[in-house]
Formats: sequence, structure tokens, C-alpha cells
Amino acid sequence: MPAVNEPVANTAASAEPPRWHALTVEDVFQRVGTREGGLSPDEARQRLRQYGPNELAAFEQTSAWHTLAAQFKNVLVLILLAATVVSGLTGHALEAVVIAVIVLFAVVLGFVQEYRAERSLEALCRMAAPTAHVLRDGQQLTIPAGEVVPGDVVLLHEGDRVPADARVTAAFNLALDESALTGESTAVRKTPMPLAADALPIGDRSNMTFAGTLVARGRGSAVVVSTGTRTEFGAISRLVQTVSSGPTPLQENLDRIGRLLGKAAAVIVLMIVGLGLWRGAPLLEMFMFGIALAVAVVPEALPAVVTISLAIGVRRMVKRQALVRRLPTVEALGTISVICSDKTGTLTRNEMTVRQMLVGGRLVTVTGTGFEPIGAFLDADAQPMLISGDVHDALKAAVLASDAQLRFHDGQWHIDGDPTEGALIVAAAKAGLDHEELAAQCPRVDEMPFSSDRRRMTTLHQVSGERIAYGKGAADAVLAGCERQQVDGRDVPLDDRDIERVKDIERQWAAQGLRVLALARKREASMADAERGMTFLALAGMMDPPREEARMAVETCESAGITPVIITGDHPLTARSVAAELGMRTGRVVTGAELEAMSDHDLARSVSDIVVYARVSPSDKLRIVDAWQRRGSVVAMTGDGVNDAPALKKAHVGIAMGITGTDVSKEAAGMTLLDDNFATIVAAIEEGRLVFANIRKYLGYLLSSNVGEIVLMAGATIAAVPLPLTAVQILYVNLATDGLPALALAVDPPEGDLMRQQPRNPRAGIFTPALTTLIVVGGLWSGLINLGLFMWLLRSGRPLPEAMSLTFVSLVLIQFFKAYNFRSDHHSVLRAPFRNRWLNAAVGWEVVLLAIIVQAPVFHAAFGTFSLSWPEWVLVTSLAATIVPVLETVKWLQRHFPAIVAKNSP
Ligand code: ATP
Repeated sequence: MPAVNEPVANTAASAEPPRWHALTVEDVFQRVGTREGGLSPDEARQRLRQYGPNELAAFEQTSAWHTLAAQFKNVLVLILLAATVVSGLTGHALEAVVIAVIVLFAVVLGFVQEYRAERSLEALCRMAAPTAHVLRDGQQLTIPAGEVVPGDVVLLHEGDRVPADARVTAAFNLALDESALTGESTAVRKTPMPLAADALPIGDRSNMTFAGTLVARGRGSAVVVSTGTRTEFGAISRLVQTVSSGPTPLQENLDRIGRLLGKAAAVIVLMIVGLGLWRGAPLLEMFMFGIALAVAVVPEALPAVVTISLAIGVRRMVKRQALVRRLPTVEALGTISVICSDKTGTLTRNEMTVRQMLVGGRLVTVTGTGFEPIGAFLDADAQPMLISGDVHDALKAAVLASDAQLRFHDGQWHIDGDPTEGALIVAAAKAGLDHEELAAQCPRVDEMPFSSDRRRMTTLHQVSGERIAYGKGAADAVLAGCERQQVDGRDVPLDDRDIERVKDIERQWAAQGLRVLALARKREASMADAERGMTFLALAGMMDPPREEARMAVETCESAGITPVIITGDHPLTARSVAAELGMRTGRVVTGAELEAMSDHDLARSVSDIVVYARVSPSDKLRIVDAWQRRGSVVAMTGDGVNDAPALKKAHVGIAMGITGTDVSKEAAGMTLLDDNFATIVAAIEEGRLVFANIRKYLGYLLSSNVGEIVLMAGATIAAVPLPLTAVQILYVNLATDGLPALALAVDPPEGDLMRQQPRNPRAGIFTPALTTLIVVGGLWSGLINLGLFMWLLRSGRPLPEAMSLTFVSLVLIQFFKAYNFRSDHHSVLRAPFRNRWLNAAVGWEVVLLAIIVQAPVFHAAFGTFSLSWPEWVLVTSLAATIVPVLETVKWLQRHFPAIVAKNSP
């Protein structure tokens, strides 16, 4: 086909691109070589090869070389390199080689860490890539926006981001927010009408949609004329796929702490070196020693480790179906204290089935399960009934005013589109009404699409010379526009008593957890007056069972000190019933109308008592977030529509729905639920808490080790004994500690009580009294025990190199024992001590390395070691092991006397 109608879009040959806005829809179809049902999959593939992906620029990868080179920008690495050169030039060749090897290890470690973090961020970018809805061979498909090609027919819905420049082929109340392109903030109405052939400015091309703009309302379809860099958007700017990796508050905080500790360490190092020189130590030796000590005690890896931990958290969250787009979100997730969640689909399964109907004043029960169109209609006595004219007319209205489609594939019945509509279509199919047949008999000519604010939808149809409007929606919204009702095939007046009766039944059904919709019709209608003076046809009550896993997640929230709140457009009683079924705490149910009557002050005062907000519109969500935030809570808020975006942005963590959410909501949110499931939010919070807990473990261990080294060195200087370690030994200790064991702590498995603690106060720093006590006591003990060992060895007449070597081994071993202790700041180390397989492997490997450099004579000169005898190994290991009972005692005191040593919760 393209041979006949070679698409002209994008071809280099067409110097002046066609004025698409001046062509008729048929002309556009012809020129881009496509048709109403879209391209075939083969044509699409061929065009993708021909025109390339619909992207503005190839994804820029940070090259491995770049990352490697960046390692050498680190000041400490540079100092060490300088030290290598100085050692080499002054005849200390062996030392130079050892330091060079240590630098190499440090660089490789830094490189591997950063490389992995970068790759996971890139993977994130790819996963967060937008999608587009297209027709291919008449079938609606959702594809990555990058695969859209010229000639594709794209379907546009409220909240979509337009994937490419396209000519509108159909529009229902369609309006686009083109501010990204034109700066104009009011939405622009779109129609398929051809325009004059002039060169119109973009803002006036009302039959074109442009890549990067947003569907503000309505729905429509358009045929793509140009993609990628050839779009208007591509011409003016680059669309950046935003996965921000800017510093998080925690990173900034740690950066500050790191700098502060660095300065303090530098002062201590200068003092030790100064004292040494004053006592007459050789200048070069003190210079090398000073550098080594500085490198060892400055926690230079801190910010990088935070990034890595956050990135690891992101990966673990994706495995649990939560896609996080920004690193600060991972951090904020760990502090969430309130989750404001939608009901339908998030807390419930979104598998609707019509159970009850009120038609022509009679109650009807519908049987059957799921979307399978098999079931019976039973009368009030539970006897099967013939489908009356009233039931038929009501279901016809339901089908015609719906967009969803019922399909059978892979041995199952599925709904494409909104499950609420799906339930109505299935009920109609049970009564023998086929939606495709009906749609062909009564073609739709116009519509007022559904929106959460209007809570209803109305369509206009051409039925044998007459225009009839059909509508469905929330009962109060639809009934407000009804003047009559259909009973036994006749239109009769609908008085206040009738309305009260209908509402009474709605309340009864809602109290059982059913979602209730009303159906209506208007004959001889025009779109302008379609929603006034309608005839009420029926109420339909549909069941949407709560998700089993949501019930458990609510329970977890309870123990984790997190308050779940339901915010729904549904009926208050339906919402209350779902809340009760999920085991949520009882509290106030507030409707949108009541909320409106409340001042911000009143709301902030009573917000913690309210568990359900019903019949609210998305704009109310902003006030609810605000009220919680004023109380100091950290709020997560879910949303799927265009109007949810402001609340998603305002919440600490905005959460979009991966399946039903609009592009707008996904872009505004920090996290997307790939399975739209409430339980996933709770899982992500657990991962967020884990990330923070592990950063604390890492940090505690690292600092406690540094304190131990400083106490040992400073202690020796003050006690006027020789320095207990050589420069190379200090560097080795630093690498053995800061390297693998510390990293293994950053991936420690969760402690069982992670979700049994109150949420962390985001303003409280990382150093809680419990952690600080452990750091200080652990550091002091390590420093003193090693200093004691060193001085005792010297007193007992051991040669200095041997005393140094034994102290070195004892120091390294004590750090390994300490690593296990820092797996928790309150639990005993004896509780599942070897659960962290990474730590076991890291320590195992380091012990083997230590044994080699101590026992193998080839390393003796370089590391200043000598082969230890068995009793000596036993001695240093036993001394090192004393750190365990000491830290255990601290933890025991903290657990049993929390008042003395303040507990870690804020
Ligand atoms: P949640 O906010 O928890 O997802 P919800 O799905 O009920 O709840 P909305 O989608 O805003 O929220 O729907 C609000 C009301 O509009 C519903 O209670 C229902 O009465 C009505 N409604 C929902 N879907 C449709 C639809 N496709 N057509 C007409 N009316 C609908």
C-alpha cells in the first residue's frame, strides 16, 4: 500500500511540508497513506524503520569511561596519587606500589558503585517512558510513544500527552492544553474541520494536535503526520524525560555532616602529625602517615552511598510494582504517615458486576459473576423473569452511553475500557443486547464525556430520524436532570416522593457496598439541552469487591502508625461499607458538600478524625493534603485524572495509577503503581523505610570505625608511644572496612519490626541518641582495646613492627565484628546474626585477604606484617570479639531503660 500512497510526511523530498490544517480528513489519510482503522502492524514496523523512533534525541548514556574518569576528580584520590609519586621519588618504591594498588581498588569500587547507580536510573527512565493509544488494523493498542509512526491513528483521551503532530479526525468536546508549545494557558477547542490554506500560527490550527501538548478535556482521534524531531515541539526544544537525580534532603544533610566530620578529622590529623613532628618523627614518614589517616577518617563515600542505597531502593520497589521517578520520593516514602487513597480499583478490585436494578419501580436481581455475559434476571420473588421493555430500554441506554467494549480472548471475557461501563455492558449482554449491533443501529453523533467533576456522561444518537440522548452517572447527578420516569413503557411524571424512594434504594444498596448508577434518556434532544428534562430509566447497583491484599495492607498501616484515608467520587455509604470491610478504623465520613462548607481552619482541626471523603471532586484533594500537612503529617496521595495533578504535586509523595492513570497524573506524581494496588503503596513505604534504616546502619558502622581509628592514633600520640600503624596499614584498614562490609550493610535485609514502628519524623536527623551512643561506645572501645594491646606488647618487649602488626590485625578484626553489631541499633546481634548473606561473603573474603597478607611472607615487607602463631591469632580474635558484649550491653540498656538512653523514635 505505501507504494501507491507513499506518505509524504517527514520525507526529505517535501521541502515545504503540506499545510495539513487546510486539507480534509480524507486528503490527509490519502497523503500519509493510511485509513480510518489505522496502519497494519507490518506497515507500522516498516515505517518505524523508515522514519526512526518518535523521540527527540537518542537517550544519552553516561559512558563507562566518563564514570571512570570522574573517579579521579575526587580530591582524596588525587592526594593519594600524589603520595604515591612522593613515595616513589623518595625511594619508597614498595610503599608506592602498595598505595597505588589501594588507590586502584578505591577507584574501581567507586566506579562500580556509581556505574550501577547510573544504569538503574537509566532503566528507570526507560520504564517511565510514555505510552500512546493507537488503532492498528482497527484494533485499539497501547504502545510506547516512541513507536508511533506517521500514518498512525492515535486516540486521545482526557489527560493524555499527545505523542506526535497529528491532524484531528474526530473530536468530542476535545480541548488541548498547548501551553508547553504556545505559552497560552487556556485550553484550545479542537475540531476536524479543514481551515483556510494560510500559514496559520500554531495556536490557531484548531484541527491539529501537537506533540508534547496535553488533552485537557474530552476525547477524539487524530492521524499522525510527523514524529520525533520533525514535530513542532522537536523544532523548538528538546523534550526531556525527567527522572531527576538531584540531591535529596538526606543527601544534602549527609553532605553537610560529611564536610563537618571531614574538617574535624583534618584538625585531629594535623594535631597528631604536628605532635609527631614535634617529637622528632621524620618529616616524610609523618607526611605519608598524615595523608593516610586523613583518607581513612574522612567519610568521603557518604553521598555516593546514599545515592546507591536510594537507587537500590528504587530497583526493589519496581520489583514490588512501584515505579519511582525521583530519588527524593524514595526517601519521602520512608516517612509517610498518611495515605490518601482512591477507592475504586486501588482498594477494590475494579471488577464490577451489576447485581441489582430498580426498573419501572420494580426491583430486579441480576445473577452471574465477573465479565462473563451469562446470568439471569430475577424478580422480587427470586423467580426468573422475562426481559421487560423497561429493562430493555434501561440497558440500551447503558450500552449506548458507554465506550467500553466486551471482548472474548485467551479463553476469557475481558473489558477494554472503564470497568463500570463494562459491568453495564455485561448486564445488557445477559439480556441479549449486543453493544456493537446497537451502536450500528443508533450511531453516536455527539457526547458530553464523563468526568469526575460532573460524575455523569451523556451521548446523543441518531435513531431513525430522531436524536435521542442517553445518559448514565451518579444517581444524584442524573436525577437532578430528570423530570419524568419510564414505567411499563410509558413516560410518567417523577415527583419528589418518587425521587426520595429512588434515593432510599440507592442508600440501601450503597450501605451494602454497591456502586450505584442511574440511567436516563431524552427524546428529541440536542446536545445543549440533553442533560435537562430527561426520563429516569433505572438504577443499577454494582458490586466491586475489596482487594484481599488491601485488607492486609490496611492492617500493616495500623501497626506502622500510618493512617489510611479514602477519597472517592462514590456514594458515602458505599465508601463507608468498603472502609469497614477493609478493617479501617471507624471515623467520620465527610461528603464533598460538607467539605465545601468547612473552613480551612476547621478542616485542619478535624482532619485526623475523617477516614472517608465521598462524592468529592479531585480539586478537593488539594485541601485535604494541605490540612494534613498543616498538622505536620507526611502525606501520600493517589490520583489518576488531569484534575488530580495539583494534589499529586502538593503531596509529599504523589502516586499515579499505572493502568488507569492519565499521562498528566503520571507526570505530576513521584511514583506510579504498576498494578494500581493500595498494597503496593504500603510495600513501597516498607522499602523506603528499609533504605533509610540501611543508610543508618552503614553510616553508624563507618563512623564508629573511624572513631576507633582516631582514638587509637590520638591516644598513642597523647600517651607518647610510637604510632601504632603504618600509612599502608591505615589505608588497608580503611579499604577493608569502608569497602565491601559497609556496602553489604547498605543491602541488609529488613528487620522484622520495620512496619511495627511509628513513621520517622523527617525533620529528626539521622543521628538518633541510640545510634550516636553505639557509634561513640563502639569507637571508644575499639580505640582503647587496640591501644591497650599495642602498649602491652611494647611493654612486654615485643619489637615495634610486631606490636604494630598485631594491633593492625586486631583493628581489622574488630571492625568485622562491629559490622554485625551495626545491623541493628536495638536488636541483639544474636538474633539471626548471619541473615545478611552479602555481609557474610564480604567479611569471609576480607578475612581470607587478611590471612594472606599476614601469613604469606611476600606481603610482609609491603604491609609491615609477620606470620602470626595460632595463639596470637586466638589472642587478637578474642580481643576483637569483646566488642560484641560491649555493644550488646549498650543495646540491652537502651531496650530496657529507654528513658536513660533516649530511644530512637522521634
Ligand atoms: P475513586 O475516586 O475511588 O476512584 P470513583 O471511581 O467512584 O472513585 P469517579 O471515577 O470520580 O470516582 O466516579 C464518581 C462517580 O461517577 C461514581 O461514583 C459513579 O457514580 C459515576 N461514574 C463513574 N464512572 C462513570 C462512567 N463511566 N460514566 C458515568 N458515570 C460514572
